[in-house]
Amino acid sequence: SHVVVAIDGPSGTGKSSVSKAVARKLGVGFLDTGAMYRALTWWCLEQQIELTDADAVAAASRDLPLTMGTDPNHPDVFIDGRSIEVHIRESRISQSVSTVATNLDVRADMQQRQRELMAQVSEQTGGVVAEGRDITTVVAPDATVRILMTASEEARMARRSKQLSVTAESTRSQIVDRDRVDSTVSTFMTAADGVVTVDTSHLDFEQSVQAVLHVVSA
Ligand code: C5P
Repeated sequence: SHVVVAIDGPSGTGKSSVSKAVARKLGVGFLDTGAMYRALTWWCLEQQIELTDADAVAAASRDLPLTMGTDPNHPDVFIDGRSIEVHIRESRISQSVSTVATNLDVRADMQQRQRELMAQVSEQTGGVVAEGRDITTVVAPDATVRILMTASEEARMARRSKQLSVTAESTRSQIVDRDRVDSTVSTFMTAADGVVTVDTSHLDFEQSVQAVLHVVSA
């Protein structure tokens, strides 16, 4: 009777902050799976591993000393016990993460870690909200609730550029490119069978949280 909520979608939909708030309301854990790919990317750059060296990156993934903080009040990412949460949000990471995340050996490893983490967190808190690109389809296709969060490109660009405090134009091509590359390995631009679409184009933050909670309690 654990409540497992899987949320996928492209960047700029408000997915991450909404998922966190939903986890808080439900009193369950939160898993940001994108942060795991970002952590691996950061680690590879630290170790000067060529991101295009698929075998080296896959090996780094398997050995990655990664710990995820899954409390929705202060989610965190640790490598070797050191918090790298601030570093993984840097634009150099956003620009490189897709290269790492389209490595299929990396995906298999991360997906396995994510399944284990979700089971653990669920056991501890009675449930989990996990968000990413392939949670509804690959990591947790048997989740209690599966949601695809979408928003018009216009709304997504506006939100992202506000977050990064730069102009919409300078982020547009980066985000469009990242979504295009990411969508070669995950199905998050259209809802898979049985996945409920929540379009946040015309919803503010609080309305988006309510829309997701509505699907959860339906
Ligand atoms: O959600 P966020 O923008 O932090 O995700 C960073 C990157 O991690 C995505 O652009 C994508 O390359 C990868 N990712 C993924 N599968 C997930 C979550 C994120 O491939 N489930």
